[in-house]
Amino acid sequence: MKLMSLYESILKEKTFSIDLDVDLIYRFGGFKQFIDEFDAGKFPYKASILNGRDVEFAQFDSSKLKTPQCKRAHLTNPVTIWCGLSMDSGHSNYYNTNGKLIHLSPEVQILQYAYGILPKYNLTTNQEKLITNGVSEHYMKIVIEHELSHWLDDTMHNFHIRKDTDKSYAAKRDMRLHGERDINTTQFEIDAQVHGLKALKASMSDREWNTITTEELFYMYPSLHAINQILINRYDEDESVKWQKKLLTRMAREGLLGRRMKTFAKEVD
Ligand SMILES: [Zn+2]
Repeated sequence: MKLMSLYESILKEKTFSIDLDVDLIYRFGGFKQFIDEFDAGKFPYKASILNGRDVEFAQFDSSKLKTPQCKRAHLTNPVTIWCGLSMDSGHSNYYNTNGKLIHLSPEVQILQYAYGILPKYNLTTNQEKLITNGVSEHYMKIVIEHELSHWLDDTMHNFHIRKDTDKSYAAKRDMRLHGERDINTTQFEIDAQVHGLKALKASMSDREWNTITTEELFYMYPSLHAINQILINRYDEDESVKWQKKLLTRMAREGLLGRRMKTFAKEVD
């Protein structure tokens, strides 16, 4: 037992193996049905999306999860998992440490474009790519794995996310950033981004993965594209390069770096 925990602490950077639970939430959370209908050319819940009303597909607690790591986390830190369409743009996916909630939804803005509610005529080809990728099985699985990994990371590493949130709340300021300028470049966010990338890689063959450039990768994982834009717009290109360096280094360590992911993504549109 002791040996095991020493081993685990040495491998602290090792990612969680939770593919089974990502699939389970994708199916039981109603996302599979939603995306299947969408892919079949239907526009499920169009009226709700048009009127800005949230839609709940399913809500269950973490006792449903099957992988050893999620089962273990459930014992010390059970959470409710909310699955549906959240109309709160920019805040539809999160792990709320004090509310013990994992909230999962496709990005509403992407849905609004995909459904033709927002006009597409002024979008570039690349922006269209973001929309297509944003309403897809691979993107929902990225989102699920990202948020599940925050919950596991918090629970298994001494509730460091909760502690940071509480301290920041007490001091009436934003989340402590541990020397970083932006929350998206903190170690714990990069960890979750790497989990999202794991889910993305699992959705394709190694051969296919090796044809993708860093820039193309960001279009397939629209949140990474958004982060890159935020870093360039809010700070400068150096901030983006610094973040990408850290991300690609972590990816290399986890065996996730494709052969063509050797240069940084620059393009912003
Ligand atoms: Zn995150």
